[in-house]
Amino acid sequence: MSFETATITGITEVSPDCKQYTLELEQGTFTGEAGQHTALQTDNGVKPYSVLAVAETSIGLMIRAYGTGGVADYMDEQSVGDTVQVKSTLTGNLTLQRTDRPAVFIGTGTGITPLIGLLQAYTAADGPRAVFMFGEKTQDQLLYKSLLEQYGLIHPVETRFSLSREDWAGHTGYIQEQLPDVVDAVEQEADYYVCGVPAAVVAAKEQLDALGVPSARVHTEGWEDAQVT
Ligand SMILES: Cc1cc2nc3c(=O)[nH]c(=O)nc-3n(C[C@H](O)[C@H](O)[C@H](O)COP(=O)(O)OP(=O)(O)OC[C@H]3O[C@@H](n4cnc5c(N)ncnc54)[C@H](O)[C@@H]3O)c2cc1C
Repeated sequence: MSFETATITGITEVSPDCKQYTLELEQGTFTGEAGQHTALQTDNGVKPYSVLAVAETSIGLMIRAYGTGGVADYMDEQSVGDTVQVKSTLTGNLTLQRTDRPAVFIGTGTGITPLIGLLQAYTAADGPRAVFMFGEKTQDQLLYKSLLEQYGLIHPVETRFSLSREDWAGHTGYIQEQLPDVVDAVEQEADYYVCGVPAAVVAAKEQLDALGVPSARVHTEGWEDAQVT
């Protein structure tokens, strides 16, 4: 795997422990599309990261720091103007399928990252109807909530958030528990994109199967069992 030098041109906090980074390649261009992932090579190791967005010479990433001294913590210590080593060829199978039928995005935790990119690509292609489902433990971890609500105002996008560890005015419980309602509303014609911790991805797949959604319509990535290629 070869790495290129990129400059960090922007850092924004999106939650108490997650930051969004913009990386600009010093030379060359990125190849790949929304939903795919790059990798970062740092003094603390090499780890894959999905892209929020990819343009010719820049990408957006969103990374949660765990305080374990790993790659995420290395990034957490960086500042605008610092450089990092990044893979310019994006890989991964979680890519946008059809844009002429409904799409349902189901994410947990930082698994929201590639789904944001896919939603942007879907709405840019005038997709007819999307449902964006996102599950977290508590309200302060509802990443990109206002951005997603903004999408709902200007595009045919319905957002559905669910919290598993906090009572609030919205839905509660694991996000896959919302699937019967959603599948009922969009029927089985939709493409379903699922990303997040493996247990949540497996649970969502099982739920979709039980609801009769054909497996060919279900596109998933479970992060901790994926390999960097
Ligand atoms: C295809 C793919 C795409 C990915 N995209 C993203 C992305 O967009 N954003 C992102 O943030 N991550 C993403 N990841 C996860 C990322 O690759 C790393 O696994 C993560 O950043 C942790 O790496 P680290 O070296 O900092 O952690 P390490 O120090 O190696 O920690 C290892 C693991 O321990 C667990 N862990 C440690 N401490 C805690 C804690 N306090 N609470 C909960 N779990 C803990 C985490 O699951 C972590 O992955 C992706 C993974 C894959 C396979």
